[in-house]
Amino acid sequence: MEVFKTDILIIGSGIAGLSLALKLKDLGEIIILTKKRVFDTATILAQGGIACVVDEEDSFEFHIKDTLTAGDGLCEPKIVELVVKSAPERIKDLIEWGIEFDKDPVNPSKYHLTLEGGHSKKRILHIGDYTGRIIENKLIERVLENFNIQILENHLVLKLIPEKDSSLNGTPKRVVGVYALDFTHFKERVFLAKVIALCTGGAGKVYIYTSNPDTATGDGIALAYEVGCKIANLEFIQFHPTCLYHPKAKNFLISEALRGEGAVLLNAEGKPFMFKYDPIRKELAPRDVVTRAIDMELKVTGAECVYLDISKLPSDYIKRRFPYIYETCLKYGIDITTQPIPVVPAAHYLCGGILTNEWGQTDINNLFAIGECACTGLHGANRLASNSLLEAICFSHQASIKIKEMWHSLKETSYKVPPLQEFQIKEVKEEKVFISHNWDWIRKLMWDFVGIVRNLKMLQFAKNRIEFIKKELETYWSGFYLDLDTMELKNICTVAELIIISAMQRLESRGTHYLTDYPFKRKEFEKNTIISKF
Ligand SMILES: Cc1cc2nc3c(=O)[nH]c(=O)nc-3n(C[C@H](O)[C@H](O)[C@H](O)COP(=O)(O)OP(=O)(O)OC[C@H]3O[C@@H](n4cnc5c(N)ncnc54)[C@H](O)[C@@H]3O)c2cc1C
Repeated sequence: MEVFKTDILIIGSGIAGLSLALKLKDLGEIIILTKKRVFDTATILAQGGIACVVDEEDSFEFHIKDTLTAGDGLCEPKIVELVVKSAPERIKDLIEWGIEFDKDPVNPSKYHLTLEGGHSKKRILHIGDYTGRIIENKLIERVLENFNIQILENHLVLKLIPEKDSSLNGTPKRVVGVYALDFTHFKERVFLAKVIALCTGGAGKVYIYTSNPDTATGDGIALAYEVGCKIANLEFIQFHPTCLYHPKAKNFLISEALRGEGAVLLNAEGKPFMFKYDPIRKELAPRDVVTRAIDMELKVTGAECVYLDISKLPSDYIKRRFPYIYETCLKYGIDITTQPIPVVPAAHYLCGGILTNEWGQTDINNLFAIGECACTGLHGANRLASNSLLEAICFSHQASIKIKEMWHSLKETSYKVPPLQEFQIKEVKEEKVFISHNWDWIRKLMWDFVGIVRNLKMLQFAKNRIEFIKKELETYWSGFYLDLDTMELKNICTVAELIIISAMQRLESRGTHYLTDYPFKRKEFEKNTIISKF
């Protein structure tokens, strides 16, 4: 088995992984492992933009208040303050890396800011409606300019390697590397490093309807859980209220910014309905409120979708402001300047994740988790729109400070890679249908029983079924397979189980977690749900 040594190992090539690499570029050699192509990320799909206090009418206090309100009592106030107050500096980093946010056409000396659900002021910096595409591409360009940063595509990380004999109640003090599969050469490989950062993104693929890319299978959470890191608040899955409903459209999101610009939600009869659910904020209510309102309308009317209508705005403005959404919808035969857009909710963002401190550090000293895979305390029970790209760049900065501080105490590992038999790679020869069937089964199960509105009976039902699939996977598919779908199936199974267990522990309704048995908040649950293997 080939063994590679590096100083810093980053897993994932979205905004978290790439910005961390740029922050650490002068410290040592860096390898970024990414399981598909470098740009196969959620980052590239981000449309709306990135939140930051820029306008004179706005203030840090307003942004903090909006974040805390969305988080519904579970945000870590210290972290919220840190992120909001450091946002202008982190935006400067992005600008230095070549990202140019849109300027106000009326006053080009200022940025054009948009409003999104849950924000009391216009504070979203954006580039058209393809902000993430520009961020991802510019960061890749900058990374490729550095000879000491290597990006290895088609490398799936399978397992973290804990340092032998360093365990503290089962959780190691250090990790020394990872086992990975190289899907270009179909080889197993070991990467050893002084410091490792999980930047593996979210887990939307656990649900059948999702806005997330195919890479979002919660791998980082499964990897960290297996070595004993604490996992927090997985019950808080944010469902985006408006994904395009069309048989040929796979995971296409209709940005929150449309509602910010005045788009109205209509039911199957063409009637507005948000005033019934949130009379004051209506379409600009936080995502969980809008999502549940749509879910309820769909259940009451039996319709397959609702509609988002922006056609009252001038056609030229719509085309200029939302070129990507306009063109994509047109491809599917919907002219958004004249027609309402059919939409449904879909799993969109994982508010919880691997528990980290203010430096992005997990329970294991030299293991960091940054971006959507982490639970930093910023989002609490519900993420405020456009706070996630911000969180990722803020914590890659925080982690870089900590890593630089720790650098001289970080030892090169003398770890001897275990012999091959401990890490036997098998091929999926037959019964591939078992894998594809269970992929669909888990994702449908999660949608139907652990979705937007939950109850304890359904959660128990889901738990029983997941345990059954898990047992089958352990019995018939133990070990490692040279097959991406098989390895990802194990990860979605682990993460689905952790989501269900977390949801069953929270006997209240808060943020994105709505439990019909307890349709209200309970003081005794004003705390994180924490799960760990040991
Ligand atoms: C459609 C859409 C629109 C959005 N719009 C916005 C927005 O406007 N504003 C905002 O703030 N947020 C938005 N978000 C959320 C935001 O885009 C994500 O939270 C953020 O991009 C996550 O960045 P990340 O670096 O953590 O993960 P990602 O960008 O998803 O990158 C994860 C990386 O990890 C790799 N990886 C995963 N597992 C493994 C493994 N086992 N081995 C190797 N590599 C692995 C993946 O291949 C990928 O490269 C949006 C999300 C979606 C899906």
